[in-house]
Amino acid sequence: MLLETRDLHVSYGPIVAVRGVSLAIPQGQIVSIVGANGAGKSTIVRAISGELAPARGEIVYRGSTLTGLPAFQVARRGIVQCPEGRRVFAGLTVMENLRLGAYGRGQLAQAAETLERIFTIFPRLKERRTQLAGTLSGGEQQMLAIGRAMMAAPEILLLDEPSLGLAPILVQTMFEAIRAINAGGTSVLLIEQNAFMALNIAHYAYVLRTGTVVAEGKGMDLLKDEDTIRAYLG
Ligand code: ATP
Repeated sequence: MLLETRDLHVSYGPIVAVRGVSLAIPQGQIVSIVGANGAGKSTIVRAISGELAPARGEIVYRGSTLTGLPAFQVARRGIVQCPEGRRVFAGLTVMENLRLGAYGRGQLAQAAETLERIFTIFPRLKERRTQLAGTLSGGEQQMLAIGRAMMAAPEILLLDEPSLGLAPILVQTMFEAIRAINAGGTSVLLIEQNAFMALNIAHYAYVLRTGTVVAEGKGMDLLKDEDTIRAYLG
């Protein structure tokens, strides 16, 4: 197993947002977490990335614990979070934003290769490479945020709501891009409210409700499980 959470508990002061979540991301797979607003999906991602410290439980990566490591060290080990919303550097160009993603990564030659791959997956970014990021459309900024995360050559990409606020046609493009990223060898943990798309793309998925896993299985199996869909995903 590439990455596991074991009995993960995460709180915000008195509010327990995640209670006893154990999940696993096998190498090379796309794993989705779906569930309603406030179920605790983002909180899990933020605990894995080191942004939040778990109250209890463990996060294990390639057999060693990540629990308690600061975010920059988690990122250095190859677990890179692409945050919800579009946090790009508005005053920098597309190219400058992408270059920043490769900051701290040693091999420049490989960074050039990654850049080409990103431009293949998101041709729009190539067209707009000299444009200031702040003037991109919402969807383009989302692509840029993912492209920037890819520049760090992650082992695992943590994607929080990549389809949020996108027009339907762009949602499709975004999911195709996630598939292409995964086909290039990157494992993906995908958080989505768009349960249909997220289950459709996932090798394996977890359904979260008020901080607990209430169902799990192969994405396609969950998609066919009418009871689960009705009970938890509307
Ligand atoms: P959404 O799909 O709406 O983003 P989510 O499943 O990602 O939801 P989380 O953002 O993980 O859910 O939130 C889980 C719970 O923790 C919610 O009840 C939320 O109100 C609470 N929470 C999140 N962030 C904080 C915070 N900084 N302080 C206090 N409570 C928080």
